[in-house]
Amino acid sequence: MKIVTIVGARPQFIKAAAVSRAFSKINSIKEIIVHTGQHFDENMSKVFFDEMDIPVPKYALDISSLSHGAMTGRMLEKIEEILLIESPDFVLVYGDTNSTIAGALAASKLHIRIIHIEAGLRSYNMLMPEEVNRIVTDRISTILFCPSEQSVANLKKEGVVENVFVCGDVMHDASIYYQGLNRSKIKNNLNLNDKYILSTIHRAENTDDKVKLAGIITGLNKVNNNYMKVIMPLHPRTKFKLQELGIDIDFEVIDPVGYFDMIHLIENSNQVITDSGGLQKEAYFFKKNCVVIRDQTEWVELTDAGYNVLCSTDENDIYSCVVSEKLEICDNLIYGDSNSSDRIANLLVEKFS
Ligand code: UDP
Repeated sequence: MKIVTIVGARPQFIKAAAVSRAFSKINSIKEIIVHTGQHFDENMSKVFFDEMDIPVPKYALDISSLSHGAMTGRMLEKIEEILLIESPDFVLVYGDTNSTIAGALAASKLHIRIIHIEAGLRSYNMLMPEEVNRIVTDRISTILFCPSEQSVANLKKEGVVENVFVCGDVMHDASIYYQGLNRSKIKNNLNLNDKYILSTIHRAENTDDKVKLAGIITGLNKVNNNYMKVIMPLHPRTKFKLQELGIDIDFEVIDPVGYFDMIHLIENSNQVITDSGGLQKEAYFFKKNCVVIRDQTEWVELTDAGYNVLCSTDENDIYSCVVSEKLEICDNLIYGDSNSSDRIANLLVEKFS
């Protein structure tokens, strides 16, 4: 079984790390990785491939820093060329980025079967580019691996029911596996002795709106100055927008970190404040509460359970969400038992080879 896997963005490297490891245990699966280049900077890409032992991409497309349409279009064209050369049995795509939809569309036009991992998620906000990517990718995929029953139900509402499997979340596999390797060195560079809150902000709907971004930073300043230290690995997009905004930041800002360091930062934090999809769940995997700076979330199981709360970009809302009492997280099994990748690999071989 020959699978061409398309990755391009940071969360996809993490998911691919878990799934490629599972594939490597099965002789009949031959995987070829294509890196679209969507995230290209050293701290957002290379470090993940190096430290997580992700197979070296056979193709690196170098497509980045373009508008959504231009980026997706160029990826589509290049991926099609590769698929014509490789002629795989399947194209595997993860999540909801431009690389996901470009990979899926290229495969669909060549009648190559598509595997979508992290299928069925919905925020029900069509203004999010990720939501459009998810819906289109799910609609044209052949095999859909869902992280939870809720995502299966979302697909069912849209009439997508064939070859839909609940397999848990492959990010859970990655976080537990790499935690076990215990290779973070971040405590040598950063003072983590005081209690701190970990924060990341990078979603376009927050960074591209000056009022929202100013509200978030002022709220985080307030948390940092009156409640608890805040540490933020700064996404390049947010860095750029903050430079334009010229607003003072009182909390500790660091460059984006590799995955081992990220896991260490989450594990040792007091709680998390983020607009990241991945980090909302990783907080839960390490039993940390999370304030989600978004109007909706696709990870509804965690807000329904009361572990995570949605919060506006208003500085006072952020402060009160952070300081309010939280529900203790007793288990971390909502998204499976951290064996999702093996489950996916075995299922593919059993049912589709
Ligand atoms: N992440 C990381 N280093 C960082 C920031 C994030 O390793 O400096 C990880 C984070 O733990 C999560 C993934 O990158 O697993 C999420 O990426 P991001 O927030 O960019 O995307 P999203 O999940 O929102 O699509």
